Amino acid sequence: MGQMIYFDYNATSPVMPASRQAWLDATEQFIGNPSSPHRIGARADGALSDARERLAAILGCDPLDIVWTSGATESNNAVLHHFARTLDPKAEVWISAIEHPCVIQAAQHYFPRRRRLVPVTPDGIIDLDWLAVELSETRPGLVAVMAANNVTGVLQPWREALAICRQYKVPFFCDAVQWLGKIPAKGLGDCDFVSGCAHKFGGPRGIGFLKCPNKGHVQSLIFGGPQEEGRRAGTENVAGAISLVAALEAREKAMASGEAKPRVGWREDFERHLLEAAPGAIIVGKGKRRLWNTVAALMPDVAAQARWVVKLDKLGFAVSTGSACSTGKEEPSHVLCAMSLKPAEATRVLRFSSGWETTPDEWTALAEAVGKVYVDANPMRTQTVP
Ligand code: PLP
Repeated sequence: MGQMIYFDYNATSPVMPASRQAWLDATEQFIGNPSSPHRIGARADGALSDARERLAAILGCDPLDIVWTSGATESNNAVLHHFARTLDPKAEVWISAIEHPCVIQAAQHYFPRRRRLVPVTPDGIIDLDWLAVELSETRPGLVAVMAANNVTGVLQPWREALAICRQYKVPFFCDAVQWLGKIPAKGLGDCDFVSGCAHKFGGPRGIGFLKCPNKGHVQSLIFGGPQEEGRRAGTENVAGAISLVAALEAREKAMASGEAKPRVGWREDFERHLLEAAPGAIIVGKGKRRLWNTVAALMPDVAAQARWVVKLDKLGFAVSTGSACSTGKEEPSHVLCAMSLKPAEATRVLRFSSGWETTPDEWTALAEAVGKVYVDANPMRTQTVP
């Protein structure tokens, strides 16, 4: 494989140096099991508590609200499982129509006849009016709204949704996987349940967390030992937790020093170049608040359109279609269908997602490559990328 430029950070990201170093140091320093009764175990337990405190400080919650998990799929499943075990048998759960499949399918599994989808506008934003009106009439047992969508990058009004849920005393769950590390995490700790994972913001795979109530009983998805206050059995991934926090702290620091700002401009420049390079393309969610790293583009209906990903790959660019989980499947993304795109249109959407490491030159090169694929598919046309 020749040199590839990576534009699929929403699927997973490379481990950043600070996180890698933290992981290496932790595996050497903390060799014990945090549950072991000796000082080596206690040292590992202390390191884990320290990581918990640092993460809680970023989210703005009590350290004991944090449960370490293997990743967000587990965290999200754990939330739905907990409510399936504890809710009144008639209570519904309401989840937004654009949640990640690990929320939608877990809800489908645990609440097959008691699950309602919160609709979204054609811009890909959850319909707050719908939520306010419906909540004034019925009380579900849980409302789930993600912070930022993984396919479109469109930011969701989770603060407003949380406020409405508070008004009616309905627990609120926010999947913050794509928000964390790209937008400051402040305030997320106010949600009753929050999920996140390290590998989307420069930490390693296989480590995530769930912010959940520490008092009362969160039902563990996994049976075994009493770790994590009985909320998640299994030996904790100490080095993973430490490197997750190292990555998130580094990202928060970069944001605090203004490093995200120019990146919004780089994404906007790319969008302009893309529209020139592939006339007729449409930026999904254009004009709405979106993650600075994500562009979902409905590509023009040109010959061989279905092969954009393959053709861009041949030119050295790793890009995606819908979410990573639906890549390779023929079905159009449920996120795009929920936004009222026709199935045939949804299959024409490409997702470009950059990372902190991506340079403006790489964005420009990507736009040029899109132009090349477009012109190759339309020999009669010319491209105008600068
Ligand atoms: N939630 C969202 C919004 C995601 O984008 C993803 C991954 O794509 C997940 C959950 C699942 O996360 P993990 O890969 O840690 O299981």
